Amino acid sequence: MFTRARFTLTAWYLLIIMFVSISFSIVIYTVLSHEVERFARSQKFRIERRLPDNQLLPAPSLLVDSDLVSETKHRLIYMLVVINSVIFIVSGGLGYILAGRTLQPIAEMLDEQHRFVSDSSHELRTPLTSLKSTMEVALRDKQLTLGTAKTVLRESVEDVNKLQSLSDELLQLAQYEKPNGQATMKLISLNTVITKAIQSVMPLAKQKEIQIKDMTKQIEIEGNKYGLNDLFVILLDNAIKYSPGKKSVAIRTRKTDGNVDISIEDEGIGIDEHDLLHIFDRFYRANTARSKTQASGYGLGLAIAKKIVDMHHGAISVKSKPHKGSIFTVTLPVKQFS
Ligand code: ADP
Repeated sequence: MFTRARFTLTAWYLLIIMFVSISFSIVIYTVLSHEVERFARSQKFRIERRLPDNQLLPAPSLLVDSDLVSETKHRLIYMLVVINSVIFIVSGGLGYILAGRTLQPIAEMLDEQHRFVSDSSHELRTPLTSLKSTMEVALRDKQLTLGTAKTVLRESVEDVNKLQSLSDELLQLAQYEKPNGQATMKLISLNTVITKAIQSVMPLAKQKEIQIKDMTKQIEIEGNKYGLNDLFVILLDNAIKYSPGKKSVAIRTRKTDGNVDISIEDEGIGIDEHDLLHIFDRFYRANTARSKTQASGYGLGLAIAKKIVDMHHGAISVKSKPHKGSIFTVTLPVKQFS
């Protein structure tokens, strides 16, 4: 599909360039051939004036060499054809390269979209299949009691809840992945956003008896409060989710030159070195997270977090030691230059 589009785009580039080039050549030819004729005529006039009155005029062909004039015109046409052919070949090659470069980001975007759709459908299929088979088994059971039916329904509701949270996360990711979805940036209090995010994860922290230490300072930055709230909820939620009970999670801010560093430190299971390279990829979940914590999730949180940080022209990094804990650091510019 893209090869055809590339050729079509090249043809359009060529058409425009050749239209301009041929138009210029016609103008050049018209002007120069007029100049040649004018030169020939003025030469004839000068010779006539220099001859004594009684001397006969030489034959006109001797005064104005018409062969020379038409030969000059032919040479002119020849040169213009050669120049246009060179322009055709060179601009054809350059046009083909340029068309490739123009289409490259579109091809990558389509590729990315295709992967997104197939990854999402793959993730959606697992809970759907489990839901379907649980219901089918229950339906086929001729001695189904009310108690068993209720258990089946409870399990189904759990699966539906998982599906709902997956579709919510997918929607959230799609929203932050929109190519022109630049959110409105305003001067906001980072501290207020962090306090709100802490409140959102408090129920889970209480459940696991995890203490959240808010060591942030009052800092104002230009940002999108909804995006930043989502970002800190994701990072705090992970810090709690991947920690054993009765530990603590600390959140700190530090102002550097034109930037703010926000770090979230936990005393949880940590991340293996080979997983560190992939945790920001969509749908990536480390094996230790699955086996040791049984924490629910689809591996979308950090992909969303990365998109939010990118939207703020910031950076996110992680330092982690297995069995010791992790520190996620977000660096955000105080002012957005868009
Ligand atoms: P989810 O938590 O839904 O699986 P995320 O994208 O938020 O997805 O995280 C991707 C993976 O990164 C997690 O599955 C887990 O393996 C790892 N991870 C993220 N945060 C932490 C953390 N604070 N401690 C240990 N592992 C983490």
